[in-house]
Amino acid sequence: MQQQDEFPVSRRALLKLIGASAGGAAMYEAMVEMGYAATSDFAGPIKLSGAPKGASVLILGAGLAGMIAAYELRKAGYKVQILEYNDRPGGRNWSLYGGDTYKEMGGVTQHVQFDKGLYFNPGPWRIPYHHQGILHYCQMLNVAMESFVMVNNSAYVHSTRAFDGKPKRYREVASDYDGYTAELLAKATSQDKLDGLIDEDEKDGLLQMLRRWGALDKNYEYRKSDAVSTFRGYDVPPGGGLNSISVDSEPLPRKELFNSSLWLARFLPKIWEFQGSLFQPVGGMGMIGKAFGKLLNGVIKYDCKVTSIHQDEKGVTATYIDTKKGGAPKTAHADWCVCTIPATVLSQIPMNVGAPMRNAIDSLSYIPAAKVGLQFKRRFWEEDDAIYGGNSYTDQPIFNISYPSHGFFSKGPAVLLGAYAFQSTSTYSFESLSAQDMIKAALEQGAKIHPQYNKEFQNGVAVAWHRVPWTLGCSGGWTDEGRTKHYDNMCAVDNRIVLAGEHCSRLPAWQEGAVLSSLDAIKRLHQRAVTA
Ligand SMILES: Cc1cc2nc3c(=O)[nH]c(=O)nc-3n(C[C@H](O)[C@H](O)[C@H](O)COP(=O)(O)OP(=O)(O)OC[C@H]3O[C@@H](n4cnc5c(N)ncnc54)[C@H](O)[C@@H]3O)c2cc1C
Repeated sequence: MQQQDEFPVSRRALLKLIGASAGGAAMYEAMVEMGYAATSDFAGPIKLSGAPKGASVLILGAGLAGMIAAYELRKAGYKVQILEYNDRPGGRNWSLYGGDTYKEMGGVTQHVQFDKGLYFNPGPWRIPYHHQGILHYCQMLNVAMESFVMVNNSAYVHSTRAFDGKPKRYREVASDYDGYTAELLAKATSQDKLDGLIDEDEKDGLLQMLRRWGALDKNYEYRKSDAVSTFRGYDVPPGGGLNSISVDSEPLPRKELFNSSLWLARFLPKIWEFQGSLFQPVGGMGMIGKAFGKLLNGVIKYDCKVTSIHQDEKGVTATYIDTKKGGAPKTAHADWCVCTIPATVLSQIPMNVGAPMRNAIDSLSYIPAAKVGLQFKRRFWEEDDAIYGGNSYTDQPIFNISYPSHGFFSKGPAVLLGAYAFQSTSTYSFESLSAQDMIKAALEQGAKIHPQYNKEFQNGVAVAWHRVPWTLGCSGGWTDEGRTKHYDNMCAVDNRIVLAGEHCSRLPAWQEGAVLSSLDAIKRLHQRAVTA
């Protein structure tokens, strides 16, 4: 506990605390107030033109921010070149397929053994409909999109401390929360306990709504009935022919439910970023990066690890080493530079910028996250549990199991997301496990929800983001204090260098943040270049 207190309370962590103590509505209010649920301010495709004759821009990093900068600046007439650490485009926009290898910091290498056509997204995996910037580039690149199922009422919510550790269907928990809350509120209303809070003529409308919302009976009580079963499901659903009468289900005991912390099921779907529609590229999130890489054929120089960045009155020079062949350091030079290297990595790279930008870079820590992809022999979640896409949640470190939103009803092996540990105290210990142990933990914890895990598991892959050598963390973990002090300095143009990427946005940990930051950075750099 003490250790946890030593970390700056980031916005997401704070929201978790608010949520834990005050529940979903307070959580949502806080999110809106803190700008976390803010939608994208994408104002349509950028139109830059009139680059000074012969002007050049060196871009560091071929993630989305870097590739958008290259694409738009090239269109405006600049000569562009990207130096990229990896041997592929996309950065965190990345999918792992069977046959791929992934080498983490320290050299441990995983060989992905998924069957042909199966994949896992270690990083981004869902795009909300209002992230119009990234969706614009998906359309431009002809990346085929399909629906991402975020909320599935048949999926599970699970707490090790409630209902004897047995998972409950999302739909049962959600209906029972609504039903009991509606009953309490209806009683308070009809017993005049809300007098002074609402007017007499509002009461009738409120009671009518509560009755429908909570499936209450004529006495405004939430109890086993056909109406309740149409929300939370039946013990025996209605059938056809003889012996087809349905059997109603019994709501969960109110006290145990209210003490269970399973309210997650109630507030998650309310968060703007998780409201439908959400999308995913067909074939894996990495399809966006791949398509961009193709478009920028010849512009990206791969396997280049930038080790220093120097600017003077004539331009910017980056020194880099070849990550595959080694050898003597080389240099690349241009008039201007857009640097999209994550701040965690950049803080270790010498770069002669002013103290405000340097302090901003050095002050930003990245939040922890780890994901595990598991291949099973068959889609038992569909075949046995009737779960088609969506997410189950647990209070164990794996936090999230996500079922594929594609390939429904197909036979044979399939991959699901077996863990998405994200920015809680337990994430640090989960992330510090070896890849093999993360897979083992995901199997043990997941089996509490799906006992089929033990029999059906085939192989897996695990990515701990603090061990990803080219980001050293999931995403910028701005605190409110840090943002006030450093954010503008992080984003300002420093002579000939501007930084871009999700860490330079108010939508951290979203691709939309990388897109918006890149567009804003190149607009300001272009203005400086044309007036220089
Ligand atoms: C676990 C996880 C879940 C996420 N979920 C979602 C989601 O569901 N939806 C969503 O929209 N977003 C999500 N995101 C966020 C999204 O991935 C990022 O916001 C976005 O991809 C960042 O793009 P970028 O261009 O800023 O950075 P990056 O993609 O990291 O690009 C930076 C590039 O710099 C390169 N680089 C680093 N060091 C050097 C060096 N020394 N020399 C040269 N090059 C270097 C890197 O290799 C990389 O290619 C998630 C991220 C993570 C990690």
